[in-house]
Amino acid sequence: MVRLFIVMLALVHFVSPSYAIGSADMQFDENVATDLKSQVVNDFSFLESIQASKASPIHQTTFGTVSGANYLQWFNKRVLFFGVDTCGGSTAVACVDPAFKNKIWVTDNYIQISHPQIARLMTLYHEARHTEEENDNWPHAKCPSNFKPTSIWTGAKLNNEYACDDTAYGSYSSASVMLNNISKFCTNCSAKVKADAKLYSDDQVKRVIDNTAIQQLAVDFAF
Ligand SMILES: [Zn+2]
Repeated sequence: MVRLFIVMLALVHFVSPSYAIGSADMQFDENVATDLKSQVVNDFSFLESIQASKASPIHQTTFGTVSGANYLQWFNKRVLFFGVDTCGGSTAVACVDPAFKNKIWVTDNYIQISHPQIARLMTLYHEARHTEEENDNWPHAKCPSNFKPTSIWTGAKLNNEYACDDTAYGSYSSASVMLNNISKFCTNCSAKVKADAKLYSDDQVKRVIDNTAIQQLAVDFAF
């Protein structure tokens, strides 16, 4: 998620047969291990089951309703290809490269560090948001020099890194809104999923540093 736009991928990524994610197919690079492919497919299978009673205004604007079918449709419009890479740094978890349309990569930090299922999905939705060329790929803002929160994935320091958002609609903001809505409105999620969703939502929203965006998100979270 860090330093996403300066990642230049020189390697050629060969594409292997595709796997169904909901009603669409996603193509995994050949270097994506079978275990990871299965995990991703299973994670989306879980997400597809989500049902909810309502959605917050920013969620409605960004994703539409809180429902598995809607989440998969949203993702499938943006991501068709999935790879594994270093993403340009030891602390990166995942990335996009605007030169490769509709593609996301995850790193060993995503694969090897154990995080809840909903947190893995949050990362994929964060990256999917970055594929939106029409929104300049939602570039991150530079975290202040005195920024205290650290990466919930790796523990890495974030101050002076381009790992914050200055909008209520960027990758950190939107992924946080998504998980906040799941934590509050999902009608068929386990208590653990809801607790995990709240934990990661509360963490990611700390990456928003613009006062107007912070206020907009506070109103949305209180919905
Ligand atoms: Zn990002």
